[in-house]
Amino acid sequence: MHGPAPKYVWLDGKYVPASKASVPITTHALHYGTAAFEGIRAYWNGSQLNIFRLKEHAARLRRSARYYEMNLEYTEEQIAEAVVGMYRKNRIRESCYIRPFCFVGEYGINMHITKEAPVRLAIMLIPASHIFDAKGISVAVSTWRKFSHMATPSQAKMSGNYLNSIVATIEARRHGADEAIMLDHAGNVCEASGENIFVVKDREVFTPPASSGALDGITADSVRSISGDLGIGVTARNVARDDLYGADEIFLTGTAAGIIPVRSVDGTKIGDGSGCVTDSIIRGYEEITMGLNDSYAHWLTAVY
Ligand code: PMP
Repeated sequence: MHGPAPKYVWLDGKYVPASKASVPITTHALHYGTAAFEGIRAYWNGSQLNIFRLKEHAARLRRSARYYEMNLEYTEEQIAEAVVGMYRKNRIRESCYIRPFCFVGEYGINMHITKEAPVRLAIMLIPASHIFDAKGISVAVSTWRKFSHMATPSQAKMSGNYLNSIVATIEARRHGADEAIMLDHAGNVCEASGENIFVVKDREVFTPPASSGALDGITADSVRSISGDLGIGVTARNVARDDLYGADEIFLTGTAAGIIPVRSVDGTKIGDGSGCVTDSIIRGYEEITMGLNDSYAHWLTAVY
């Protein structure tokens, strides 16, 4: 994602010029990854700007913080208001990726986070561009396993957890693939470094269960509804590595990536390339995000 940086960020309740928004090197989150973050998308459809599932993202941010006893003083409504406010303050009328994050501020080197630890909240807007080729990508199964939910809570979207995604991405790119797929500790497929994974076989769609350690993605939840509307069932079940190679279609879902077809896994071409289930889900998702499907108007928060 690139493009001109918006002038203001939001920090602890104030709009601050981006160049002035800095934190001390003693910030706890810099040392231990004690930050929770969200990725949210807003879509400009030529006349309106809508934020997609803002309420659910604000709720997940608060939920992530709770796993680590982080005392985030802002309610879901206040977080949502601040996100909308960032658009208005920056006078931006284009699709953006929105990054709210809360982090433990100056708290020494103490590992024991209590309600007394100072928790700060920041929000940045990043003009959106495509992170992957919408026509489809290559993926490689990583030798790095997804961190276990027995090690740290996998439903908490914490900065520190993303080191796992970073090593897997480095390895995938080194081998010429666009994205990494991580297996869980039992050897089943879990998810990609920043997306959930769905496999289509004989017009049935399946996806790894939360017990694999996959994040409960908001795009994945949207896909379940869209698939239901199309009369296609989605089942959460263990996905073996060889289910990937034998799939008719595979797609990844995430806020930043959108819904992205997978063309090959470890160099093996997937299906016959027709991707008709994936295409119809992508069309349904685009209609919703562009504000063209009234049944899903409740998923959109209008900014302008
Ligand atoms: N898994 C991981 C590890 C992610 O980082 C993301 C992106 N937030 C997802 C899945 C997809 O989640 P969502 O659809 O809520 O963006």
